[in-house]
Amino acid sequence: MKRPLKILFHSAAAGSLLLLVVAIGLWGGSYASEYEFRRATNKNAQNIVIARGQLALHLLDETANLEASHAPRTAWRWEKRPVTNFVQTLPNVYSQSRPPFAGFFFGRNRWDRTTTTMILFPMPLFALLLALLPVGELLLYRRRRLRSRRRSGGLCAVCGYDLRATPQKCPECGATPPPAHPNSSPSLF
Ligand SMILES: [Zn+2]
Repeated sequence: MKRPLKILFHSAAAGSLLLLVVAIGLWGGSYASEYEFRRATNKNAQNIVIARGQLALHLLDETANLEASHAPRTAWRWEKRPVTNFVQTLPNVYSQSRPPFAGFFFGRNRWDRTTTTMILFPMPLFALLLALLPVGELLLYRRRRLRSRRRSGGLCAVCGYDLRATPQKCPECGATPPPAHPNSSPSLF
């Protein structure tokens, strides 16, 4: 893997891990409190609500009549409040949509010039997606460690077969060990 790609991968995995820690904290807290992150301009608003183990994305477009709490603002704001049962009200608000199922929901309403969209999905799924890169990084790190340990012990890096008698090629799996570069650090891949 090329060095810039490696740095990008490490940064993405680190950012993902940080978000995962925050998400798990919010997920755990979301049964006692509701967390809302919101941003609004004259034209649209985005709300992210985490409540009862679910993540809700609420989008408003072309809003001429935003509520007072959605006064025009460009910066993200957040608040913590007592948990509500807003999910139960979704079938009334989005009467054209299928009711929430297993923590999933998609609803869209259109009025004159306003479109509201509500997407709901379970926090466990969100946490799982955020865990993919850090877990991948951990597995690659362990593989790199194992291969480097095998190489320094005179074993095949791929399968662990003893290569002292046949250092050019592994008779077990056919892997050809790279020529030794004592000064190079082990590669991630
Ligand atoms: Zn081998």
